[in-house]
Amino acid sequence: MMVIMPESIRRESRVSPRVLGPVIDEMTRCVHYQTAVDIVAIKFACCNEYYPCHLCHAETADHPAEQWPLGERNQEAVLCGACGTELTIESYLATNECLNCRAPFNERCRLHAHLYFETED
Ligand SMILES: [Zn+2]
Ligand SMILES: [Zn+2]
Ligand SMILES: [Zn+2]
Repeated sequence: MMVIMPESIRRESRVSPRVLGPVIDEMTRCVHYQTAVDIVAIKFACCNEYYPCHLCHAETADHPAEQWPLGERNQEAVLCGACGTELTIESYLATNECLNCRAPFNERCRLHAHLYFETED
Protein backbone atom coordinates (compact mmCIF):
# COMPACT_ATOMS: atom_id res chain seq x y z
CA MET A 1 0.00 0.00 0.00
CA MET A 2 1.35 3.42 -0.88
CA VAL A 3 0.65 6.30 1.47
CA ILE A 4 0.87 9.59 -0.37
CA MET A 5 1.84 12.56 1.74
CA PRO A 6 2.84 16.08 0.79
CA GLU A 7 6.62 16.43 0.51
CA SER A 8 6.53 19.30 2.97
CA ILE A 9 5.67 17.19 6.00
CA ARG A 10 8.34 14.59 5.32
CA ARG A 11 11.77 14.70 6.81
CA GLU A 12 13.96 12.33 4.92
CA SER A 13 17.56 11.41 5.34
CA ARG A 14 19.68 11.33 2.26
CA VAL A 15 20.25 7.61 2.35
CA SER A 16 18.46 5.44 -0.13
CA PRO A 17 15.90 3.96 0.33
CA ARG A 18 14.29 6.84 2.14
CA VAL A 19 13.86 6.78 5.88
CA LEU A 20 10.90 8.63 7.35
CA GLY A 21 10.54 10.24 10.76
CA PRO A 22 12.68 12.67 12.79
CA VAL A 23 16.02 11.49 11.42
CA ILE A 24 18.90 13.64 12.65
CA ASP A 25 21.79 12.46 10.50
CA GLU A 26 22.73 10.44 7.44
CA MET A 27 23.29 7.27 9.42
CA THR A 28 19.55 7.16 10.21
CA ARG A 29 19.97 8.12 13.86
CA CYS A 30 16.82 9.71 15.20
CA VAL A 31 15.77 11.96 18.05
CA HIS A 32 15.21 8.88 20.24
CA TYR A 33 18.32 6.75 19.71
CA GLN A 34 21.57 8.54 19.02
CA THR A 35 24.50 6.43 20.20
CA ALA A 36 27.35 5.38 17.91
CA VAL A 37 25.73 2.02 17.20
CA ASP A 38 22.19 3.26 16.49
CA ILE A 39 22.60 3.16 12.75
CA VAL A 40 19.85 0.78 11.75
CA ALA A 41 16.47 1.66 10.28
CA ILE A 42 13.62 -0.83 10.17
CA LYS A 43 11.01 -1.19 7.46
CA PHE A 44 7.57 -1.61 8.98
CA ALA A 45 5.27 -4.32 7.72
CA CYS A 46 2.22 -2.03 7.88
CA CYS A 47 3.43 0.64 5.46
CA ASN A 48 6.58 -0.78 3.84
CA GLU A 49 8.45 2.35 4.87
CA TYR A 50 11.70 2.64 6.80
CA TYR A 51 11.76 4.38 10.17
CA PRO A 52 14.75 4.67 12.51
CA CYS A 53 12.80 3.25 15.46
CA HIS A 54 9.40 2.28 16.77
CA LEU A 55 8.96 5.67 18.46
CA CYS A 56 9.53 7.44 15.16
CA HIS A 57 6.83 5.29 13.60
CA ALA A 58 4.44 5.95 16.50
CA GLU A 59 4.94 9.70 16.23
CA THR A 60 5.07 10.04 12.47
CA ALA A 61 2.84 7.40 10.94
CA ASP A 62 -0.93 7.75 11.02
CA HIS A 63 -1.57 4.11 11.89
CA PRO A 64 -0.51 1.52 14.46
CA ALA A 65 2.68 -0.41 13.80
CA GLU A 66 2.46 -3.98 12.57
CA GLN A 67 5.12 -6.63 13.08
CA TRP A 68 6.62 -8.82 10.35
CA PRO A 69 5.16 -12.32 10.67
CA LEU A 70 7.55 -15.18 11.43
CA GLY A 71 7.06 -16.51 7.91
CA GLU A 72 8.47 -13.33 6.35
CA ARG A 73 11.94 -13.34 7.85
CA ASN A 74 13.38 -13.46 4.34
CA GLN A 75 12.13 -9.90 3.70
CA GLU A 76 14.77 -7.20 3.42
CA ALA A 77 13.47 -4.97 6.19
CA VAL A 78 16.59 -3.73 7.96
CA LEU A 79 18.72 -0.89 6.60
CA CYS A 80 22.32 -0.29 7.63
CA GLY A 81 22.63 3.47 7.97
CA ALA A 82 26.39 3.29 7.53
CA CYS A 83 26.48 1.76 4.05
CA GLY A 84 22.88 1.63 2.87
CA THR A 85 22.71 -2.16 2.61
CA GLU A 86 19.37 -3.82 3.26
CA LEU A 87 19.49 -6.98 5.34
CA THR A 88 16.85 -9.62 5.70
CA ILE A 89 15.18 -9.89 9.08
CA GLU A 90 16.72 -13.31 9.47
CA SER A 91 20.29 -12.11 8.95
CA TYR A 92 19.78 -9.05 11.13
CA LEU A 93 18.55 -11.13 14.06
CA ALA A 94 21.57 -13.43 13.70
CA THR A 95 24.30 -10.76 13.65
CA ASN A 96 25.65 -7.90 15.74
CA GLU A 97 27.23 -6.10 12.82
CA CYS A 98 26.47 -5.17 9.24
CA LEU A 99 27.14 -8.10 6.93
CA ASN A 100 28.42 -5.70 4.29
CA CYS A 101 30.42 -2.94 6.03
CA ARG A 102 30.89 -4.60 9.46
CA ALA A 103 29.58 -1.56 11.30
CA PRO A 104 28.54 -2.69 14.79
CA PHE A 105 24.80 -2.69 15.54
CA ASN A 106 23.24 -1.86 18.87
CA GLU A 107 22.81 -5.16 20.69
CA ARG A 108 20.16 -3.66 22.90
CA CYS A 109 17.90 -3.38 19.85
CA ARG A 110 17.36 -7.08 20.32
CA LEU A 111 15.34 -6.17 23.41
CA HIS A 112 12.75 -4.49 21.26
CA ALA A 113 12.86 -6.86 18.32
CA HIS A 114 9.29 -7.87 19.13
CA LEU A 115 8.14 -4.33 18.27
CA TYR A 116 9.21 -4.92 14.67
CA PHE A 117 9.18 -8.68 14.17
CA GLU A 118 6.86 -11.38 15.37
CA THR A 119 8.91 -13.54 17.75
CA GLU A 120 8.51 -17.09 18.93
CA ASP A 121 8.95 -16.39 22.63
ZN1 LIG B 1 3.54 1.74 9.39
ZN1 LIG C 1 13.18 7.31 16.67
ZN1 LIG D 1 26.63 -1.49 6.56
